Amino acid sequence: MSNVNNSLGLYVHIPFCAKKCNYCNFYSFAPKNADVINNYVDDTVSEIYRWGERLSRPADSLYIGGGTPSLITTPNLNKIIDAAKKAFNLNEKNNEITVEINPKDDIDFKSLKANRISMGLQSANDTELSILGRRHNLNEAKETVNEFKKYFSNFSLDVIIGTPKQTKESLKNTLDFCINSNAVHISCYMLKIEKNTPFYNSNLLFLNDDEVSDLYLFTCDYLKEHGFIKYEISNFTKPGFYAKHNFKYWDNKDYLGIGPSAHSRIGNKRFYYSADLNDYLTNHKEIYEGTAGTKEEIIMLALRTNKGYNFKNEFKNNSNALLFLKKLKKAGYINLNGTLVTLTNKGCLTENTVIASILEYI
Ligand code: SF4
Repeated sequence: MSNVNNSLGLYVHIPFCAKKCNYCNFYSFAPKNADVINNYVDDTVSEIYRWGERLSRPADSLYIGGGTPSLITTPNLNKIIDAAKKAFNLNEKNNEITVEINPKDDIDFKSLKANRISMGLQSANDTELSILGRRHNLNEAKETVNEFKKYFSNFSLDVIIGTPKQTKESLKNTLDFCINSNAVHISCYMLKIEKNTPFYNSNLLFLNDDEVSDLYLFTCDYLKEHGFIKYEISNFTKPGFYAKHNFKYWDNKDYLGIGPSAHSRIGNKRFYYSADLNDYLTNHKEIYEGTAGTKEEIIMLALRTNKGYNFKNEFKNNSNALLFLKKLKKAGYINLNGTLVTLTNKGCLTENTVIASILEYI
């Protein structure tokens, strides 16, 4: 259990939200009563122990996400954290323990046994928050940040780029809110209109692709000016505070996801659990998803990050591929240092196309 290199990331999905936001297609629902929550927490604790025994290896990160983890109350969150510490040899001194929170919920931050908070701010503009269908307003977000800052300096705020009615000015205000709060990490996701969400069938006037792209490029520049490093397409960090857990997803590392709809990658196997709580609780059936760690996958994920990918072996004798990379560089989509490729901000906007075009040469 002590081999640090063998450590995995542990994710626990809390499938509860007080109400669905207008853009969200994550698996979550409003629990009927506290029993639903307490039963799920008990099941999660026993699943953590079962997996701990089965894998018999340590974890060096725990991420409790959702859904809305802050909805299940502080004692329940601590039960899950305690189980993970015991079953996976985690400790809050050396390991990252993150809890996602919603500004609307009452959390006793003083007794919460995490060392990192991730808060869904989404916007510092009340009109945008209401369009997104969030439960909180700006004042509540401010109060919550002030409260958890008494105990946590390592915290991240989520921001949405491309909310209807968002302007460069309002986005700048939101980013200023994050910067002035001393957030050490900011995740900025471009709004996607997902099926089965209220946004999908709404008549709202959404920003077009060019407008969203402009806002993304503005965000990249603005956060850079304020000392943030963009280490993944949507993730910005002050030096040293990148999300160790999330980075495993892009860095070909193992992670175990517990809970309905949670995905795992253990060794070369990917699997997930049904996005249905009753189904999940009945048999905890692992659904095979495919092989992990293929060359294509490693390249695709690495190119999302600022580490990039070095094609020195793949393209050693491939002059066509090298010529193509030079073209992509000239067009402003990639940075090229010898055979080391990273995406530019412009490249991040069309990452799937850029990466697929490079993969054609593999
Ligand atoms: S709180 Fe988060 S998980 Fe819940 S509906 Fe809103 S965006 Fe989705």
